[in-house]
Amino acid sequence: MIDNNINQVLQYLNEEELITLVQKLISIPSYHGLPDNEKELAEYINKYFEEEGIDSQLVNVTGERPNVIGSYGNNENYDKTLILNGHLDTVGIENMIIDPFKGYIQDGNIYGRGAVDMKGAVAAMIMALVVIKRAGIELEGGLYFTGVIDEEYWNLGTKHIIKHGPKSKYAIVGEPTNLEIHNGHRGLEWIQVFVEGKYAHGGTPEKGINAIEKMNKIISEIVDNLLPDIKKRNHTITGPAALNLGVIKGGTQPSTVAGDCILQLDRRWIPGESPESITDEIKEIIKKLQKDDPELKGEVSIMRNEGNDEGFPYLVCESSAKIVQSLMEATSNIMNSAKISYFPAWTDGALLSHIGGMETVVFGPGDLASAHSEKEFCPIEDIINACKVYVYTILDICG
Ligand SMILES: [Zn+2]
Repeated sequence: MIDNNINQVLQYLNEEELITLVQKLISIPSYHGLPDNEKELAEYINKYFEEEGIDSQLVNVTGERPNVIGSYGNNENYDKTLILNGHLDTVGIENMIIDPFKGYIQDGNIYGRGAVDMKGAVAAMIMALVVIKRAGIELEGGLYFTGVIDEEYWNLGTKHIIKHGPKSKYAIVGEPTNLEIHNGHRGLEWIQVFVEGKYAHGGTPEKGINAIEKMNKIISEIVDNLLPDIKKRNHTITGPAALNLGVIKGGTQPSTVAGDCILQLDRRWIPGESPESITDEIKEIIKKLQKDDPELKGEVSIMRNEGNDEGFPYLVCESSAKIVQSLMEATSNIMNSAKISYFPAWTDGALLSHIGGMETVVFGPGDLASAHSEKEFCPIEDIINACKVYVYTILDICG
């Protein structure tokens, strides 16, 4: 049944048209710092859907920054409803050594800011809706494309979807997975350790308390005792826990006893851990050190943007879940391979899953290593295959 339908639908897929769409999306800047960031891009996609006769709307999230939501099919039939979620924003262009907006093609790759993160996937998702509509397929369930703002910063676009809809049973997030099915990833928190000392003249260090020396003790404990333990923690779906010392700042100048020191670290946490447990284990280190050194004073806190109560939870979708099985079948049929793994970074998928209650998987064209890079690119063949896999999965899930 699907095999018949897939062939029927894919007749309407014009690969050149898809690549031209990727180039067009790349040519519309949507990085943080522009007056209205993603607005022009959202408006372009909205118009694109409308011209194809697909229902679409712009939904303002904050200021003049809208999500764009295209929809098709029967959205009343919740059990067969699928969201294709792609973010419209990109990171900045400061580090780029190629034209960020030209979308030039070389050796089968398309180059530009957002090519892999994630305008290639966004174009493939849009085109999947378009070809299903063109083929006149009537879906039993509902299908949405949610083009969301602000993924690279505070995830406001996807948070808005979760709060105000659309609601869906299943979701695919199009971050670059090399066309592997990534059914999980770790949670993320940034943790700050603040050590307060006492300023004094460097010639009379005994009058002060050196915060850098105190922080040094904390770091040694983390590296020597905590880190080896963290490295042993693993989860089959999210991958291993991790800790990275990212920032250290302290003191004012060489002739002054450092009166303060700040350490900031990135913590990737897995099921069995929690934001509380990962801060508590650092607090324990400070308590332990204080027994021998009462002058050591440290405060541990989680660094989050204001109003962010959700935090950055992990994503776990069992491999027996319908959406995973459906993607397995799709990738086997389209590309003769079906690999399951975990996504190394954090995604909006965790919000769709944890808070939105959707069965969510990450699947998209290209390699994450190219994201945010000076010569960002995505293989064209990946984008075309991603579109075909999305179409197959839509037909399977939405009926
Ligand atoms: Zn991304």
